[in-house]
Amino acid sequence: MFDINNIRSQFPILNQQVNGKPLVYLDNAATSQKPLSVIKTWEKYYETINANVHRGIHTLSQLATEEMELARQKIQKFINAKHDYEIIFTKGTTESINLVAYALTNQIKKDDEIIISYLEHHSNIVPWQMLCERTGAKLRVIPMDENGILQTDVLDFWLGEKTKMVAVNQVSNALGIVNPIEEIIAKTRKLSNAYVLIDGAQSAPHFKIDVQKMDCDFFVFSGHKMYAPMGTGILYGKESVLENLHPFHGGGEMIDKCSFDGTTYAGLPFKFEAGTPNVGGNIALGAAVDFIEKIGHDNLQIHENELLNYAQKKLLEIEGLYIYGEKANRTGVVSFNLNGVGIASDTGMILDKMGIAVRTGHHCTQPIMDFFNIAGTVRASFAVYNTLEEIDILAEGVKKAQRMLV
Ligand code: PLP
Repeated sequence: MFDINNIRSQFPILNQQVNGKPLVYLDNAATSQKPLSVIKTWEKYYETINANVHRGIHTLSQLATEEMELARQKIQKFINAKHDYEIIFTKGTTESINLVAYALTNQIKKDDEIIISYLEHHSNIVPWQMLCERTGAKLRVIPMDENGILQTDVLDFWLGEKTKMVAVNQVSNALGIVNPIEEIIAKTRKLSNAYVLIDGAQSAPHFKIDVQKMDCDFFVFSGHKMYAPMGTGILYGKESVLENLHPFHGGGEMIDKCSFDGTTYAGLPFKFEAGTPNVGGNIALGAAVDFIEKIGHDNLQIHENELLNYAQKKLLEIEGLYIYGEKANRTGVVSFNLNGVGIASDTGMILDKMGIAVRTGHHCTQPIMDFFNIAGTVRASFAVYNTLEEIDILAEGVKKAQRMLV
């Protein structure tokens, strides 16, 4: 049974007034709030077993190691990876993508091609541009139409021997558009030997992920957008692919043998986990996985679809409000502007005065904003604890902002 009151009671932060009004938190695509089970897991780690992992023979170190490795196994199951050592702990999607882009450097040469899409977060643009700078490779960008739908036909012409990487997000953070990754992966497999990286920062909090069925080489996501602490994230990589990759960071934990004559690297996953990890955060990420699985993906999606459809309906009742990507298949996000309001943050500031937290601006997707010839949008994004009543409050707030600004 999906019991929204019970779910909300697990998020103490929601039960407060902001600017004299009950908080309506609709900035979940930026970061989600954390349930008590995650907060308590993190606290318990520091209260009872804090120690450095993997190298200690003392009891606390062993307990901390066991808990962190248990979390790794939970994440393995969560995305249906074949092996737990295919799960690399990072500090977020950004670090995961940078890791892959850097580690691939010696496999890329001049005039090779990296394909991304128009709908990417800067995190899935800049690391590839930097890789191109290092190697002389070229970046190609799958175009989109005015509805934000990717024009994947170009892949029939672009994919080939030169293509070394296709990196796209499953869900766009700026517009909430669900991209046709099944089609993109199928075409890539058929027409090239390129790697496929899926940025799941906005899909892992909402969808059931199955990396084996998806048949991607890499799947990356952030813990903090799916109810886990900040500073946690995952790089999934297929075993054979990770084995072939040069390490990213050098340091402790990632070596097999280190001497001044040279160093050999540890096996997976440690080869990519140099230095002391975020042990408490990683263990709490395991608790976030438990939280999502207890609710169940079906329940999650039914509720979140209802929120999205209702938000879209209520907002479109407002004359002069334009939703970007309205006609595309979307999840979790409504991105809009009001006619006559040049600066989205003006709307955001008025909403904030009413206790409503939304994000305004370019959402780290400046190319999308340039495409629509705007500086930014107002973005409301949803999580499992949001309610239809909160969407009513948002709609009333937007109407008030419109009265004040237009
Ligand atoms: N990719 C997408 C689609 C995102 O939404 C985000 C964050 O908003 C990122 C990458 C970067 O995530 P992080 O800042 O957690 O590294």
